[in-house]
Amino acid sequence: MSRSELLAADGAATAALIASGEASANEVLDFWLERAGSDALNGYLWRADRESARRGVAADGPLAGVPLAIKDIFCTEGVPTTAASRMLETYVPPYTATAVGRVAGAGMPMLGKTNMDEFAMGSSNENSAFGPSLNPWDHERVPGGSSGGSAAVVAGGLAPWALGTDTGGSIRQPAGFCGIVGLKPTYGSISRFGMIAFASSLDQCGPLTRSVTDAALLLDVLQGRDRMDSTSVGIEGGIARPSAERLDGLTFGVPRGLIGEGIEGGVLARFEETLLKIADLGGTIADIELPHAGHAISAYYVLAPAEASTNLSRYDGVRYGLRASDEDLLSMYEVTREEGFGPEVKRRIMLGTYALSSGYYDAYYGRAQRVRTRIVEDFDRAFGDVDFVVTPTSPTVAFRLGEKTEDPWAMYQSDLFTVPMSLAGIPAISIPAGLARPDGGGPELPVGFQIAAPAFAEQRLLDASFALEGAIGFDGTAALEGGVA
Ligand code: GLN
Repeated sequence: MSRSELLAADGAATAALIASGEASANEVLDFWLERAGSDALNGYLWRADRESARRGVAADGPLAGVPLAIKDIFCTEGVPTTAASRMLETYVPPYTATAVGRVAGAGMPMLGKTNMDEFAMGSSNENSAFGPSLNPWDHERVPGGSSGGSAAVVAGGLAPWALGTDTGGSIRQPAGFCGIVGLKPTYGSISRFGMIAFASSLDQCGPLTRSVTDAALLLDVLQGRDRMDSTSVGIEGGIARPSAERLDGLTFGVPRGLIGEGIEGGVLARFEETLLKIADLGGTIADIELPHAGHAISAYYVLAPAEASTNLSRYDGVRYGLRASDEDLLSMYEVTREEGFGPEVKRRIMLGTYALSSGYYDAYYGRAQRVRTRIVEDFDRAFGDVDFVVTPTSPTVAFRLGEKTEDPWAMYQSDLFTVPMSLAGIPAISIPAGLARPDGGGPELPVGFQIAAPAFAEQRLLDASFALEGAIGFDGTAALEGGVA
């Protein structure tokens, strides 16, 4: 099997090569370990060798021998798990996350653990304590975040596919920036056990892949009820391989009120063209209203930090990772947290603690919860009329490293289109819709198209995405060599 054939194969195609005997599982693993070993994107924080890649991996299974990369937010027994934080720099978990156990049970070796924004807080990967991951399309630009390392290694040909997590857009936005597919499933469809918590009412595991078929294959393996996570319910009937070619009888709602200012011209152009392709395939386009979605970022940046401030209180120098000083108990807490957390994590902890403090609780946290309920109701109403809601994935294409680091508010605007679905708990996918130059000039870069569906309608979402992917015919091969030096 030639190297270029192995590189060009997505997860499904790699599984087919192994099944037909055209490539052996050993050959496939060696190829990808070597690719991962020449990572020029700072995409991996830890890389496996042959033996560690296979540890605990089933010998056969539906996807046996197709390796994958795992975001460094998933606990992996015996393998460092840092969440890209100094706080957990030396942490080696004594157990494995359920999602990781599921891919291992399906026969998939682990190539390595991918870079991310610290504790999944960020939209550019620049909040990693170990330096940013780079966009394979242009090394001067960010891959998005927080699952930026996962997106970069898949798009840059350093892994066939990867796992990420999405709290407010962290799978979809980097997938959009890197020209790949990213799916955030319905809250509760995949177990969160062993996934380092950021905002527990929003966090969801999901796949970052080169194709919609791959997203479906991985989701089918990942989904399911887990007695270690009482919020996990799985997806009834599992997920079948998508095969739809047309969109007849399906209506796609466009929230025009949300798609206004601050959106790059090229992003808007690819979005409008994609709507025309939907119509060509027999789908109907309708304008809809999501009257409260414009408040989603404000609500999210109260709720997610509030939950984070609670979740991150466990990093106190006593039980996990870093212990900075132990002169007396209070100074140990303080110095550990001062040294262990980066600036964005500290900002979130302070925001969240303030929002939850007595006297302000109702003004901030309570109000944000009420906005969240309104947004849930907005989607419920919209899905009475349409099958899907569509938007650009992000207002811009991948921005330059450093462009937004001094301005957290500008960074948060990156999540304009992804956060409403997170607050509503519904599934949403980003698929590549073509290339565009940033406003103000620059290279051609990928543009993501987001499709959201009602809770647990993943099968319908993947079928429609598959049909549309075929019509768009995006070619991401230009980035595949961008991953190696
Ligand atoms: N960019 C968002 C944030 O910083 C989303 C992150 C995520 O989904 N984990 O909170």
